[in-house]
Amino acid sequence: MGYGTLNKMQEQKSNEMVNDDGELKEFFEGLEDAVRMDKEHMLQMTSTNETMVKLTQQLTQQLAVAHKTIETVLAQNQELVALLAKHGISAGTAAAATGTKKEEAKGGRKKRMCANCNKMAFHEDADCFKLEANKDKRPAWWK
Ligand SMILES: [Zn+2]
Repeated sequence: MGYGTLNKMQEQKSNEMVNDDGELKEFFEGLEDAVRMDKEHMLQMTSTNETMVKLTQQLTQQLAVAHKTIETVLAQNQELVALLAKHGISAGTAAAATGTKKEEAKGGRKKRMCANCNKMAFHEDADCFKLEANKDKRPAWWK
């Protein structure tokens, strides 16, 4: 029996106390209605439960698909990282690039990955001969 029915009963009971005895019959009729409604409600709840189970199954399937998609993306990401590593680029190298620049300015030159020509070279990104700005600096051997 739901809370609604209980409240209704209590409400009707208190009504009954102030009303004549003739009202008692109405109270029981009302109670019967309430019980009948509760039964219907229970049936509705059962079908709702079935729907919920179906929905949960659907959601579980969708989650499984989503999980597979994530795994695929992760695998692709790993492939990408491996590919970048093959070309001498790693997340660490990219992050350290700015720091390396400062170190080079202070001391001797180190071979580094140039972002412009994608080669391991001694020049800075900005000094790369590949840049149009450095066109005039290009040596004869540069192609
Ligand atoms: Zn370069």
